Amino acid sequence: MTRRRALACGAAAFAGAGLRCGASWMDGLLHLGDSEAPAEVFKGDAPDDELWERWSGRGWVREASHYLKLGANVQCKTCPNNCILAPGDRSHCRNKVNRGGTLYTMVYGNPCTFHVDPVEKKPLFHFCPGTRAFSLATSGCVFRCLNCQNWEISQKKPEETKDPSGPELRLRPPLPRGLSYEEMARVSLFPDDVVAVSKALACPSVAYTYSEPTAFYEYTFDTCRLARASGLRNIVVSCGSIEERPLRDLAPYVDAAHVDLKGFDDETYRRLNSGKLQPILRTLKVYKELGVWFEVINLVVPTYTDNLDSIKRMCAWMVETLGPDRPLHFSRFHPEHKLDHLPDTPIDILVRAREAAREAGLRYVYLGNVREVADAGTTYCPGCRRPVVERDVYTVTAFRLDAGRCRYCGTPVAGVWTA
Ligand code: SF4
Repeated sequence: MTRRRALACGAAAFAGAGLRCGASWMDGLLHLGDSEAPAEVFKGDAPDDELWERWSGRGWVREASHYLKLGANVQCKTCPNNCILAPGDRSHCRNKVNRGGTLYTMVYGNPCTFHVDPVEKKPLFHFCPGTRAFSLATSGCVFRCLNCQNWEISQKKPEETKDPSGPELRLRPPLPRGLSYEEMARVSLFPDDVVAVSKALACPSVAYTYSEPTAFYEYTFDTCRLARASGLRNIVVSCGSIEERPLRDLAPYVDAAHVDLKGFDDETYRRLNSGKLQPILRTLKVYKELGVWFEVINLVVPTYTDNLDSIKRMCAWMVETLGPDRPLHFSRFHPEHKLDHLPDTPIDILVRAREAAREAGLRYVYLGNVREVADAGTTYCPGCRRPVVERDVYTVTAFRLDAGRCRYCGTPVAGVWTA
């Protein structure tokens, strides 16, 4: 970013610039090329004083962890959108606002949804099979996927999913049998509550999922740290669009990640997701470098990401960069959101994609959202080729591994197999 562009964005007071997380502010600015303008933000859309007071009274507001101060303006450094916000602006992900020259997240401790899911639903097929994850999400997302399945929360502001009126409702054991819609809207679930609730529900893992954990990074980070210290595991289900520094800060507390690799060229990422490919590839490489277990998901969307040549290039890159043991899940598209005019992905395209991935050298390739293919969720031993883990959608129906090795031939199968 040039000084001229920074000024045009309102970043006028360079003298007062500073990076909250401690690095040089110039490091943060200079890696942005001129072609990489910050994402569009919602100008003047921050909450009014009355709503802000009620929101902060609930403890749902925290200062953001990774941002630059640019005089009265701020620049978020959590994801490659690099939003620049003048006072009173709201971020691209809808969750952050500039109030008085400070960047705040509005989604701390106020998830808009939570459930207990099998880890297979994330999907993670090589991580603690048959266990449960307490799964939560807030509103907001860093992307704008045309096919989003969770757009009713991912494309909403915090105030459209939560309501701080009425008495405070902090969820802790003993848990109620259920919550009404109104109660759900005012639930607080702070990191220590998440740990207590996960344990009460016999969930050994907490999953940050459904929308996008990068858009609720501060809540994710604090909860991950406390969950790890409390003996729980952390699962991050993400589009992978995150800046390197916050990723490296978070990764030591992540036990498993599901990363969407939504396509394999920038043009498709731009058209389908309003995102960029390279940050996702970097995230995958960083997880590999740091030894975090992760699995890759590719949604095959007709006319967008169903090109077999592109799929072959993606698989070749995966084998070369991430290794042949990295699980790849091809997921079937169903008409959703702004792509409800497209058909379901034809089964034969998915089967051909699986063949191409196996030919490229990937050892563990799955088909998701598919009932028509009998072994869509089967893990084959890379040594003797026999089925060692069989699944019916999210249920493990046969398990023939001992301490992570094939029961027939003893070949190790990559993954984290202990509960
Ligand atoms: S996390 Fe949100 S506020 Fe930060 S850069 Fe990304 S979209 Fe913008």
